[in-house]
Amino acid sequence: MTHPTWPRITRAIHEAETIAISGHVNPDGDCLGSILGLGLSLEALGKTVDMVHNETPRHLSYIPGFDRLVPVNKDKTYDLFIMVDLGDRERLKDSAVLLDQAKTSLNFDHHQVNEGVCDLICQIKEASSTCEIIADFLIDQGFDLPKEAATALFAGITTDSNRFLYDTAGARCLRLAADLMDRGADPAWVYLHEYQSVQPRLFAFKGAVVERATFLQEGKVVLATVTQEDLKHYNITMGEAEGVVDVLRNLEGVEVACLLKETGKEETKLSLRSKRFFSVESVARAFGGGGHIKAAGATLDLPKDKALETMTQYFEDLDLQALTMSEEE
Ligand code: 5GP
Ligand code: MN
Repeated sequence: MTHPTWPRITRAIHEAETIAISGHVNPDGDCLGSILGLGLSLEALGKTVDMVHNETPRHLSYIPGFDRLVPVNKDKTYDLFIMVDLGDRERLKDSAVLLDQAKTSLNFDHHQVNEGVCDLICQIKEASSTCEIIADFLIDQGFDLPKEAATALFAGITTDSNRFLYDTAGARCLRLAADLMDRGADPAWVYLHEYQSVQPRLFAFKGAVVERATFLQEGKVVLATVTQEDLKHYNITMGEAEGVVDVLRNLEGVEVACLLKETGKEETKLSLRSKRFFSVESVARAFGGGGHIKAAGATLDLPKDKALETMTQYFEDLDLQALTMSEEE
């Protein structure tokens, strides 16, 4: 499909000589896949591209182009700034200055809420991932897609759709994944690093989190906490620990998984997942965050214990009916 913004986005890219691409704080596979997949493609077009991120999580270092990531250089200005996989200025963190200083700005995003901080915005809420949107855009608009870029985009589609498990991974998403394979994307490389290189200590950690999780509402809601102490004990990073929220969601009978990650003395990151129908996006929004219907998050200015208390109360107060699908009544 051709999104109405794409011809104008293509023109903006052709008119620019220097381009910076950046994404959200605490980057995931979709964020880095988008930066690198788009960046490597625009470089192949002859543009001078800085693929910018101040964080380089080691578990994503397999994504092609990872070593091309550069930190924000506040003294540099660009003809074009491209913001990927987020719709707000705040979560750009250090990269926000590049948005402010650029002559033109573009945005590719698949989140539910977009604050409209760029000149041209391509927001497709139904897309599995921002990588899917970018792949579709590049192919539709006739850009060259080097095979490293195809693999980077494939990595983002795979991780954001949880291996094509979510209902966002519809026919369009699968066709685009196949299009990327036609262009040399290497799924085996992505699967090997994402799913077949699990550290035993990470596995042990996930088991421990499940063991001490709390179940509410007849087992439809599960809550758990990850502390800084856990990370030290199991020698893992918070980025690596994030996948545990999916482990919790996958448990039998669970509709909502709520993971609280201790990110500071007075700061806890909330990660929410739902399995079939419940909108965790509205829960995240109620706590100042956002995301998607089945995957959302927020940052709570609370110590971890207080955050757990708050979320426990929130889910205890919910009507059990809201957590029950009509066919189960
Ligand atoms: P995660 O739980 O993996 O951190 O986030 C799940 C989804 O919610 C992601 O798509 C992410 O972009 C979004 N999200 C997480 N935290 C926040 C937040 O604080 N604000 C907003 N707007 N979205 C968030
Ligand atoms: Mn995403």
